[in-house]
Amino acid sequence: MTNYKIALLDGDGIGPEIMTEAVKIMELVAERKDIEFELVHAPFGAQAYFDYGHSFPEETKAICDQADAILKGPIGLSHEESKKIPVDMQPERGALLPLRRRFNTYANFRPVFLPKGLAHFSPLKPEIIGDGIDFIIIRELVGGLYFGKKETGVNAAGKRYVNESLEYDEDQIARIAISAFETAQKRKKVLHNIHKSNVLKSSVLWNEVVAEVGEDYPDVEVIHILVDAAATYLCLNPGQFDVMVMENMFGDILSDQAGGILGSLGLMPSACIGPDKAYYEPSHGSAPDIAGQFIANPYSMIGSVAMMLEMSFGMEDEAKKVWHAMQSVFAQGNSTPDLSKPGAGVNMISTHAFGDLVAKELAKS
Ligand code: NAD
Repeated sequence: MTNYKIALLDGDGIGPEIMTEAVKIMELVAERKDIEFELVHAPFGAQAYFDYGHSFPEETKAICDQADAILKGPIGLSHEESKKIPVDMQPERGALLPLRRRFNTYANFRPVFLPKGLAHFSPLKPEIIGDGIDFIIIRELVGGLYFGKKETGVNAAGKRYVNESLEYDEDQIARIAISAFETAQKRKKVLHNIHKSNVLKSSVLWNEVVAEVGEDYPDVEVIHILVDAAATYLCLNPGQFDVMVMENMFGDILSDQAGGILGSLGLMPSACIGPDKAYYEPSHGSAPDIAGQFIANPYSMIGSVAMMLEMSFGMEDEAKKVWHAMQSVFAQGNSTPDLSKPGAGVNMISTHAFGDLVAKELAKS
């Protein structure tokens, strides 16, 4: 029997709540496909810091090293609670960036999808949404400001200062550009390159390398857009986008905006792909404002499972069935509270109920 070992990093806040639903779906998939998922939970994030003194404990590193894929829940604390952890141990700096660095997961795929039938979840007007929203953000994930040199101190004038550098070399840009062109070739053959070359020299090099890589993909049309303009177009005309590629911080910000135009970050799964290992996580954070209430939307976590099935295990058909099951649950009039206000026609459901209904739909397919 085929066996896949999967490290489960439940995370903080709503992480364990939505992970429970993802596990429900993985267990069903294993049963349906007659395979075994060996699921190994490991501490990661703020709770790991409180329990083990490190937000990315050695034991967790070893479990991730041995896993065929990693499924990660969101991590982090509220602004106030974060102060209980030393700055360098806080979940992003102490765990998330080291995870990305360890497995060199440079390509972050963030699908942004809302079919026409679910357009009512979006805050955008129906005439803007048209036939629905369907594009993918490809974000460089291990370079740029988040991984550059950092220095803080007191300068000669006695003032506190900070210096963080944004670094990319041409190979780092080329490999993410290749991921983007290959994705565009499989879709509508249009690639939006997001940059800020009117101000940032890093974007000048970025654009040069994207153009060079593009010579190998003559069938893909490249459209260059400044990141600030792209933010506006995401609200005014998201239908123009199909594949968007951008550096790390631009991708962090624009993909949260993309979650906003769908109606909730709870609709944003993602895949983080490296040369030898991939991990999968919702694009959003640990949502401390709703943690413990079991009202979080697990779509992002179950969608991350679907991406894992397809991208790590080649189970494209089963992945499609998982997506379809989730869409069907919404199409039947169900909604988690992030997407709708209680009222006529909305059957408000909990995190668990969503997972159960998805499992029921999947079992039918
Ligand atoms: P957030 O993404 O956690 O939440 C923003 C808003 O979206 C909140 O109102 C939240 O309730 C809602 N939301 C997010 N996911 C949802 C879901 N699945 N269902 C329903 N509603 C959902 O952002 P934040 O509040 O700014 O950050 C909270 C913590 O998460 C911080 O510590 C931050 O550093 C961390 N964070 C972690 C990651 C990660 O693990 N990759 C990413 C972003 C933020």
